[in-house]
Amino acid sequence: MKSAVLVPGDGVGPEITDATVKVIEAMGTEIEWQVVEAGMKTMEEYGRPLSPKFFPLAWECGVVLKGPITTPIGKGYRSVNMIIRERLNLYANVRYARSIPGVSGMHDNVDVIIVRENTEGLYVGFEREAAQGVVESIKLTTESASRRIGSYAFELAARMGRGKVTALHKANILKMGDGLFLRTVENVSKTYSGIDFHQMLVDNACHQLVVDPSQFDVIVAQNLYGDIVSDLIAGLVGGLAVMPGANMGDNIAVFEAAHGSAPDIAGKGIANPSGMMLSAALMLDHMRMPDDAARMREAVYAALADKDALTPDMGGKGDTEKFTQAVIDAL
Ligand code: ATP
Repeated sequence: MKSAVLVPGDGVGPEITDATVKVIEAMGTEIEWQVVEAGMKTMEEYGRPLSPKFFPLAWECGVVLKGPITTPIGKGYRSVNMIIRERLNLYANVRYARSIPGVSGMHDNVDVIIVRENTEGLYVGFEREAAQGVVESIKLTTESASRRIGSYAFELAARMGRGKVTALHKANILKMGDGLFLRTVENVSKTYSGIDFHQMLVDNACHQLVVDPSQFDVIVAQNLYGDIVSDLIAGLVGGLAVMPGANMGDNIAVFEAAHGSAPDIAGKGIANPSGMMLSAALMLDHMRMPDDAARMREAVYAALADKDALTPDMGGKGDTEKFTQAVIDAL
């Protein structure tokens, strides 16, 4: 039996991961779950926000299904999400934005994969006060990380039969850093003859995505641009709650929904589990169970088209349990 680490997380995490596991069980898909606790409650109980069991188990299984974990703002402990990304060297954040029939988004023809570089750029957090009232924030760009993310995007495009990769940048202003990223990804593109390489200024890309998303296929971007653009794309297809994602490293993959822990609705039984379920479908693909993945994905789409089952965030009168049952009924 294949095994995977399951991190329920906190906030709505336990509710949506529980719903997701129920659907996987209903399909008869056998996964041995290694459950690891994380989040606020884990901090209160054990004095640390992530069980020490996590890293050895993650390396052993190579696959993690992770619920959201709250990051306290301005105080408390460091983001567990960041710690996991750093320690497992999850260098590619991948999100899949696809219009879902029956789900209202701005467009009904979106099918975009966004590959975001996850380890450098402005997120290295190198900031200093150079003089009073003057702060320098370093944006780090390396050729090696640019090549690694470019190769990841092209490999993914090749594997998924996609024909176009668009690199987002601001190389007209940041001629050195963004210039290096752009040149490096363009060089990578030369080894993939069947996939077109395009490049676009990130501000123009935001405009073009809203006007006509059908011109995009796979997008590759540095950390900050990727972060912003992936939330913009989520808005085009019905919101963060329906958007699946993964953080990928070499020989390790962490699957998680695009949204946060939604503390405002935690424990009320109304969280939308669809992003988590669609992330689990990506995980099943990754674990070489494509038929189960497709079955799960189609069942979630069917439930999302069922107005009675929808959770309140989607304008429905249903709840997590009702939605989960609708997915199971649709399998
Ligand atoms: P975090 O700091 O963990 O990112 P956040 O509150 O800043 O938390 P989200 O958790 O993504 O960000 O929540 C943003 C809004 O979207 C909240 O109003 C939340 O209730 C809603 N939301 C997020 N995820 C879901 C979900 N799965 N189902 C329903 N509503 C959700």
